[in-house]
Order: sequence, then C-alpha cells, then structure tokens
Amino acid sequence: MKVRISQCLLIILLVGLILPAHARTKLVVQITVDGLRADLLDRYQKGFGKSGFNYFKRKGVTYKNAHYSHANTETIVGHSTLATGASPSTHGMIGNAWYDEAAGSVIYNVEDANYPLLHEGESKSNETGLESFDPSQKAIKSNGRSPNNLLVGTFSDGLQGFYIGKSKVYAISGKDRGAIPLAGHGGKALWYDAKTGNFVTSTYYYKDEPQWLSNWNNLGKPEKYADTQWTLSDKPDAYVLLNNDDRSFEVDLKGFGKVFPHAFGPKEHPLFYTRLLVSPAADRLTSDLAKTIVREEALGKDDVPDFLSVSFSGVDAVNHFFGPSSLENEVAVKELDKTLEDLFAFIDNEVGLDNVLLVLSADHGMADMPEAMALQGYPAGRVDHDSILLSANTFAKKTFGVESAFNTFFRPYLYVNKPAVKKKKVDVSVLIKLTSAYISSLDGVYLAAPSRSKKTVGTTSVANQIANNHSPGRSGDIYVVQKPYWFLFEEKKVANMHGSPWKYDTHVPMMFAGEGIKAKTVHRLVRPRDIAPTMAAYLGISLPAAAQGDVLKEVID
Ligand SMILES: [Zn+2]
Repeated sequence: MKVRISQCLLIILLVGLILPAHARTKLVVQITVDGLRADLLDRYQKGFGKSGFNYFKRKGVTYKNAHYSHANTETIVGHSTLATGASPSTHGMIGNAWYDEAAGSVIYNVEDANYPLLHEGESKSNETGLESFDPSQKAIKSNGRSPNNLLVGTFSDGLQGFYIGKSKVYAISGKDRGAIPLAGHGGKALWYDAKTGNFVTSTYYYKDEPQWLSNWNNLGKPEKYADTQWTLSDKPDAYVLLNNDDRSFEVDLKGFGKVFPHAFGPKEHPLFYTRLLVSPAADRLTSDLAKTIVREEALGKDDVPDFLSVSFSGVDAVNHFFGPSSLENEVAVKELDKTLEDLFAFIDNEVGLDNVLLVLSADHGMADMPEAMALQGYPAGRVDHDSILLSANTFAKKTFGVESAFNTFFRPYLYVNKPAVKKKKVDVSVLIKLTSAYISSLDGVYLAAPSRSKKTVGTTSVANQIANNHSPGRSGDIYVVQKPYWFLFEEKKVANMHGSPWKYDTHVPMMFAGEGIKAKTVHRLVRPRDIAPTMAAYLGISLPAAAQGDVLKEVID
C-alpha cells in the first residue's frame, strides 16, 4: 500500500513537471485592433465600459510605451510581427505589396493563385472602393490566398507543434491580411469579403466550407443594416470630439458622407458592404462569427489550449476617411469597446475568462491629417506618390544617361531597373547613392536611403527601422521616408495614412490578462514583437523559431 501511495505521488510530481506553465489556460484570444494608435484609448477612456478595454486595466498588464521597431508601419507587416515575434527583415512581409523582379510586377502580400477562394465570383481585387486608400489592392491578380509568403513560423504554428496538432487555431478579420498571418501555416483563416458581405476562406484552409460558415453566411446578418444609418449611440455631449464631425479635409466614400448620420443605403448599392467596414458594423459581424467559431468548434473545452485571433478592421477604415481625431473615430472606438465587452462576456460564459490568456494590440498607429496639423502651425503636407518615381528617373537620366533607371516606386521603396543601368555601364551602387541624396532634398522627404544595411544608412533610429524592414528580394533599393505628418499619397483619395517610422505610427496598445497576471501599468519601452514569445513562455511552449522579441516578465512572473 505504501509503495502504491509513493508511486501515485511520483506520478503526480512528474505530471506537474511536464505540464506547461499556466496549465489552466484553455484558450488564447489575441485581439488586434487595426490602426488603433495607443493614445486614443486614453483620450476616450472615460467613455468606456468596465469590461471591454478596461478589462485589461482592472485585471491585466498594460504597456503604455509599446512601439514597432520597423519602418513600414502597414497592416501585413504589423500582423506578421504580432504572429511571429520577428521583424519584417526576418518574417519577409515588408509591405502590403512589393515589386517582384521575376514577375516584373508588384505583387500583393497574401495572394497565392494556387489557392482560390471557396466561392467563385467573390471579390478578386479592386471592386470594393477600398483601393482608394489601399493601392496594394490594385496589385491583386487572382482571388487566391495563402500564408506562403510568410517566411517563418508563428506562435500558433508552435502551439500546434507542441500539442501535436491537437490545438485548434482560428484567425478571423475584416480583411485577409488581418487573418492569414495569425492563423500561421497550420490554422484556419477567415475574413470579411467587402464585395459580398460573406466571410470567406481559401482552398489552402478548407476543401469544403464548414457547415457553420455556410449557415452563418446564409443568415443575412450584414443585410440587416440595409437602409439604416450609422448614428451616435450616446448623447452628443458624451463625445469629446463632437465638434470634429465636419472638417473640410475628410473624404466622402462615394456618398457615405462626412457627417453623422452616415446612411448605409440599400443592400444593392455597389459599396454597401464596404460602408459596413467603414463603421462599427463589420466589427460586430466579425465578433459574431468569432462567437460562432468558439461554440461550433468547441474552443477551450478541453485541456489542450486553443488559439483564436480576432482582428477588427473598422477603426482603420474609419481613420482613413475621417481621421483619428474625428468624431467618427471616437464613435467607432467606443462602439468597439461595447463589441469587446460582449465578446469577453460570451467567452467568460463558454470557457471562463480565468482559463483564457487575453491579449490586445494593434498592427500600427495612425497620423493626424497634414491639413489639420498645418492649421495648428505645424509644417505638413502631401507628396504625390507617383512624383517620386518621376523625380528619380528624371534625375538618373540627367546624371547617368539611363532611361527608366527605376522600375517602380511602391511606397516606401524605389526599385532599380538593374539591366537598364548595367547596360549603360553605370555602377548601380553609385546610382543608388546619388539618387538617394537627390530624393532626400525633395519637399516633404525626410530621408531617402539605400535600404540594404544599417551601415549604408547611418545609425539613427530611423535607419535601424529601415534595416529591420529589409528582406532581400522583396525590399527595394532606396527607402523613402516622409517628414513627420507628411504623406506620400495621392491627394483627396484619403484623409489619413499610416506607414511611416514616426511615433504616431509605431505606438500601439499592448495588454495581457490571464490567470496569475497582476494588474499593472508599465511605462518601459516594449515591442509588439515581444507578444508572440511572451504568449509562448506563458503557455510553457517553445518560442516561435525566428522570434526576436523578449519575454515580458510582468506577464510571466
Ligand atoms: Zn492596418
């Protein structure tokens, strides 16, 4: 009998040793709010409920000084860093689109013609009105999508590896590039289709659509917004930006208007489903499908931890048309707070929030409008995107006698036409150096620099950010950085942009809540690439293979 008891004790001890840290964690929920600059949460804090954003304040660790360390603060770049814990120089997603020398054209980050969407006839590319603020949409040639351009493993890949495929991994978003990196190479990604209002996926993820997805798409939830309006939901004096509804430099998305109420119009309107995305509506739909996945796929129901990533796209879209200092932004962020409260309450009910590691961040921040900054006396403006290529080619022709020395400028990179330069027996590195110096002298340009290594661009923090963004074969030859609050973008198509290395674009929220994590606010500089390794350490699994971030002690200790 004695022997039996000691054997039992030994087994219990051994199980204790191999059980990962925080063994109670049954589900990891990673929330990303596309385009949510961190300081906006402080601006609107008084208007939040107790259990949305403030859940982290009450229960978790809030990092107030979290900044991306790469230069091109775009959506796929940030989401891939959140997924892998690596910089774009390592994970390879250096921009929403890049020039592919072999293809001789600009390609879109998650496009893969080998894996078409499961529904034929859904949006292939620029049919949704979104290309007005996202030129990368114009590069799309097929409706195929996969994570194959993501060069390294993700937190979710590691989770599935550790639990030998038994962890369920789902990532959903209002846009393809908000879902695909987080699902990694082995999970399932689903995203909102702004042409049809359906959530879609590709043959990379499924041979046949799961029944719950067909059912959800058949419920007609988006269409319930037809002929309704996006209005203020609280009393007008509850909004700190009430007077920032009607500003001349906001952009009207083809009849959606610049002031409240914004009418969604009939469901037959060609931009009806896009309008849902430029409002809190698509975020509510995304959350609704997230709840469906938790229930239908029984996430968090056994001892093997599952992973759910939800990336909300509404705040980013609202920012592009109205700006981060617009009444629309305030309403969108406050409505998202209610959506989060509802989602967290649902997860609490289904899984128990004590069994969940909850993480929230953003893929990038957002600049205020150059025109608004100019009104405050700040020197700011817009440089026409296409003028950069024209200036570079004109300079190279005059200086070196090379016709079309640069193939393209796709923000932020200029790509050298190497055969044309070599044919004229011009030294490519000299051409790059002199053209960089010339572009640096143009209005609104802070720095144009050879993008290849830290050495060639100096030792400033912007230079390090450029180096962190450099992936050979994808990044171009010259990186063009605008001055603060200047945009490299066509005029009047969008009100606001992100994508610079400046603080307003790199500053994002970073918050964790879960069993054993004590409520705390931390002001030390941290990086979003710390998130994936920290989640892995919290669960006691291997860090993602290429992770460069640190494990954050406030979450682990
Ligand atoms: Zn984004």
